[in-house]
Amino acid sequence: MAKTPDYEYLLRPVSSVKGISERRASLLARCGVGTLYDGLTFYPFRYEDYLNIVRPDQLKENTEALCYGRVVSAKSETTHLKRRKVVTVVIENAGGYVKGIWFNQPWMKERFKEGGKVLFHGVARFSSYGLNFVNPDVVYLDDDFHPDDYEGRRLPVYHSTENIAQGNMRRFISDIVGEALPHFKEYLPAELRREYSLMDISEAVKIIHDPQNRSEEELLQAKRRLIVDEFFVLQFGILLTRRILQKENYEARHLEPGELIKKFLSILPFKLTESQLSVLSEIKRDMLSPHPMHRLLQGDVGCGKTVVAATAMLMAVESGYNAVIMAPTEILARQHYLNLSKWCEKLGVDVLLSLGGMKAKEKKAVKERMESGRPFILIGTHSLLFMREEIPNLGLLVIDEQHKFGVAQRALLRDNANIPDTLVMTATPIPRSLAMTLYGHMDISVIKKPPEGRMPVMTYVVTPDRLEKVWAFIRKEVQEGRQAYVVYPRIDESEKTESKAAAKMYEELSKNIFPDLRVGLVHGRLGKEEKEQAMEDFRTGRTNVLVCTTVIEVGVDVPNASVMVIEDAQRFGLAQLHQLRGRIGRGKYASYCVLVDNTPLEGEKEEGFYQPLLMTANKRLEVMARTSDGFEIAEADMEQRGPGEVFGEKQSGQPLLLIANPSRDKRELSQSAELARKILEDYDAKKLPPAELENLYTRIALRYGPEFTIPGF
Ligand code: ADP
Ligand code: MG
Repeated sequence: MAKTPDYEYLLRPVSSVKGISERRASLLARCGVGTLYDGLTFYPFRYEDYLNIVRPDQLKENTEALCYGRVVSAKSETTHLKRRKVVTVVIENAGGYVKGIWFNQPWMKERFKEGGKVLFHGVARFSSYGLNFVNPDVVYLDDDFHPDDYEGRRLPVYHSTENIAQGNMRRFISDIVGEALPHFKEYLPAELRREYSLMDISEAVKIIHDPQNRSEEELLQAKRRLIVDEFFVLQFGILLTRRILQKENYEARHLEPGELIKKFLSILPFKLTESQLSVLSEIKRDMLSPHPMHRLLQGDVGCGKTVVAATAMLMAVESGYNAVIMAPTEILARQHYLNLSKWCEKLGVDVLLSLGGMKAKEKKAVKERMESGRPFILIGTHSLLFMREEIPNLGLLVIDEQHKFGVAQRALLRDNANIPDTLVMTATPIPRSLAMTLYGHMDISVIKKPPEGRMPVMTYVVTPDRLEKVWAFIRKEVQEGRQAYVVYPRIDESEKTESKAAAKMYEELSKNIFPDLRVGLVHGRLGKEEKEQAMEDFRTGRTNVLVCTTVIEVGVDVPNASVMVIEDAQRFGLAQLHQLRGRIGRGKYASYCVLVDNTPLEGEKEEGFYQPLLMTANKRLEVMARTSDGFEIAEADMEQRGPGEVFGEKQSGQPLLLIANPSRDKRELSQSAELARKILEDYDAKKLPPAELENLYTRIALRYGPEFTIPGF
């Protein structure tokens, strides 16, 4: 596929836009906006309506309002109830005053400067102190703000890091969109758009970013068009992938499992479960068949997918092929390496590790070993995808996707070489509606139940005043030889604050609470070596308690850990809590997950402030205490928060769905599938107009990379 000029243009770095310096570009990169295309699809997550700006003296109780004033004071206090920090900000306008109040967000104080102009958006409530907003959204305004200039406008609000003020973010994105829009063109023929009542795509992008004073209906239509766009690209990708899989250049001919597999199963310290065996027989059938396997293996954390993958890889090795397993992180790759080496040593099978940060000498050794002709199992991260051609005689590719959806598909679409059998594993239970959207081209296997004898994880939701008891409990477990995780969430959008919270609590826990225990710390801002050392210390039991951020979320396996405390659990999504919780209960010990809920309780009075109802978080946490069924949790989470939030992909880089939600947008989903089929038919019949065809190339390349080579496309 040749790159189209528009494709090339849209992949320019944002620093090519006038007014966006290298420094700003690097800030934008931290929000995932590196290219013009990223900026174009960096859709706002909500809007601020300046439809009716009021003064404090015009506020009405229990009514949503947008209130404008200047900051008079910003104070932070600690209340008598332990651990509750209250920030109070008073604003004034035309002689009237109103307060904004935040609990447990001490950093809020720093965001206000005296005399600064702000807008509070929220529902004003009454307390003995008069009207106030609890937890209002805040718009920090430029000094030259005048309400009349804004009145009646609707402005986009973007996810942003703490380093980019919303006003700047708006300007940057608007500049980027201005630059990019002429190159992001309609790929659906006009007739089809009429038939499905779809707006022109560039018009839709324009409206989404800058609705000005358009009607609710127009904004809705713009959003709908972009939802269809997002689904369409996925559905089209699925159709194309199916074509590839029907291609003839598949050579791997695996053999019936023989002595090697028998021996492997005999050295395992356990028997495979029914669930594992039935999945293995599906995999075996695929591997023996003359068509490439393309199978998704779903199974909750800890249910034993890795052993299944290992068995499949050994089948490939026994048949004379090489096998590769790709992990989403280096920590996990190393862990796979340790486990697999342990097993394979006894089998006389070579296990190789290839990581980005390895020394040239080590890399060379791996390369030489690969070319030596003896079969091997190679372990690395997803970056191995880019050195596929260097792996000779590849018979089986295992991709541990975790949160990065679509890795395997992109690999196929950009790959002209031989197709190996592919097994994609994910520990994220994917709700059915979403699985069909993302993995429609794959067969799906599920390991339904974890191995027998696994102790269930008891989950408790507690308030912060119970923490002393929780620490005492950890101490008791440690005395019995167990280990514990204490997890801190991302408090802000930035990883910085998250790491800070963990680092601070590490001090507190190691010095004051557990001076007699060995406490470790791991967070995303540590250097690679420090991180690995901390993980290693915990794995080997040198540390008793590991203070951490969500970096431990994915796949870490320490069967001796029996307690996990998750602070500020209300800030996490359910799916993420589920992932975290899966780190414990992996051994033979009874395990406990403690969710510390810092949500202010309904009607709780504190220092005279009335706290409004904020029960939703608590209700959500109760789901965790009630069930350990990942699919149930995922479905609940997706309904409540949409697929983007559920899979935390904002952090993980490659966005999955930016604007569409398959559990909500069912009609758009089925329309997109129809459209994808029709477009491919038109393509095959050479009926697509040249402009639309070129734009379609551009659109598909933007999603799957320009190297895709599809038979017949
Ligand atoms: P997953 O990859 O699905 O998260 P793992 O494969 O890492 O799960 O398995 C979790 C733990 O359970 C590992 O320590 C593994 O050795 C163990 N395990 C796997 N299968 C079984 C089984 N059938 N019986 C007992 N333990 C098992
Ligand atoms: Mg695993």
